[in-house]
Parts: sequence; structure tokens; C-alpha cells
Amino acid sequence: MGGMAVFFGGGWYFGSFRKELLLFDSYVFAIAPFFLVIGIFIHWLARMQHRASYDPLLRVYNRSHCERILDEQTKVNTTPPFGIAIVDIDRFKNVNDRYGHRAGDEVLIQLARILTNEIVPDGIVCRYGGEEFVIFFPQHSTTKVKMMMELIRKKVKKTYVRIGKKRIKVTVSAGISHRRDKNQTLHEVFRIADRALYRAKKDGRDRIKYSRTE
Ligand code: GH3
Ligand code: MG
Ligand code: MG
Repeated sequence: MGGMAVFFGGGWYFGSFRKELLLFDSYVFAIAPFFLVIGIFIHWLARMQHRASYDPLLRVYNRSHCERILDEQTKVNTTPPFGIAIVDIDRFKNVNDRYGHRAGDEVLIQLARILTNEIVPDGIVCRYGGEEFVIFFPQHSTTKVKMMMELIRKKVKKTYVRIGKKRIKVTVSAGISHRRDKNQTLHEVFRIADRALYRAKKDGRDRIKYSRTE
């Protein structure tokens, strides 16, 4: 759009020296700079929106985007099922204490990569907080979501993160829940998944728990 505007803008500028300029040409050339300004403005808006929704370190959506999805999808009648998984790194504090904060960051980057690569194409990954991620699974059955989360858990467990000569391994726990019907808000589904995550931690970590109700 910007390129076209420059092209037409140029025509407008140079064309104005031509006596035989048609009325139509003058019209097109005169409005071209407006297109340029609008194009720049839309591009700027898109960049702002992108910055406000993304986590720059992990290259996944951030918490405010996650909250927006919870709000917006609650208003939608999401049948077929809508699943939410909350993933948390086990004993992550120990990783920071033992290998340093930079190594911890690298573990987070690798985990975010695994989560984005392993989930279905229409899944959405958000970093909800420090070492906690939320994954949205629109239109996938409970069985499928459980299966995918198991794959992720196993993949994380056998992945080494290399920091210089050190090789770091972590495990994750996750809680999953599904929206039962349109009267249930996604905030409620989120809370149920969070309770399931709590149970996964309590039962020894490195596991996935599913819950349908609180
Ligand atoms: P649990 O298995 O119960 O989840 O134990 P945990 O140690 O993972 O949980 P806890 O909540 O005690 O600690 C979370 C740690 O995550 C503490 C904090 O320093 C670390 N953390 C949070 N955000 C970041 C980050 O962006 N980078 C790094 N390196 N560490 C982070
Ligand atoms: Mg943790
Ligand atoms: Mg945590």
C-alpha cells in the first residue's frame, strides 16, 4: 500500500507539470498521499497491537492476550469443545539457583519452542506468568488434548537444554479442562484447569491431570 502510494504520489508530483493531465489522473494522484498516511498508520497500529500481545523473549502470546481470549471466547458459543491446558515447569527455582538466571531463560525459550511446535496448528500458546504457560485448544476432544499434552510432557522430559558444557533437563506438570457448555465461562474452565495443575504438583509432578468440574 505504501509502495503504491509512493508510486502514485510520484506521478502526482511530476505529473502536475504535464499540461495534458486528465481529470482522472489528477484525482488519483491527489488522493495517493492520503493512502500513504493511512498505510503508515495501519502499519503502526498493527505493530503496537503485536507488541502489546507478545512476549518478546519467548515469542509466544503474553498474559494480556490470554485474558483477552478468555473474555472474547466466553461470549462465543464454542461448540464443539474448547480445551484449556496450564503448563508449569517443575522445580524451576532450582534451575535458576543451580545454573543461573540466564540458563533458566534458555530453558523457558526451549520449552516455548516445544509447546508451539508440538501442539495442533490451531492451538494458541500464551505465557501466563514466569514459568507458566496456557494453551488453548479450540475444537479438539478431551482425548485428543490429553494425548497431545502427554506427548509434550514426554518430549520435554527427554530434551536437554545445552548451556555451554552443561546439559539441563526439566519436567513439566499440566492441568487440563474443557468447556462443558456455553453457560460456563472460560475463566471458570481456566480455574478448573489450574486446580488440576495443583493436583498434578501435589501428586509428585511430571504428570498431566484432567478435571471436568471444580
Ligand atoms: P513448582 O514445581 O512447585 O512449580 O516449583 P517452582 O520452583 O517451579 O515454582 P516457584 O513458583 O517456587 O518458582 C518459580 C521460579 O520461576 C521462581 C522465579 O525465579 C522463576 N522465574 C519466573 N520467571 C522467570 C524468568 O523469566 N526467567 C527465569 N530465569 N526464571 C524465572
Ligand atoms: Mg514451577
Ligand atoms: Mg509457577
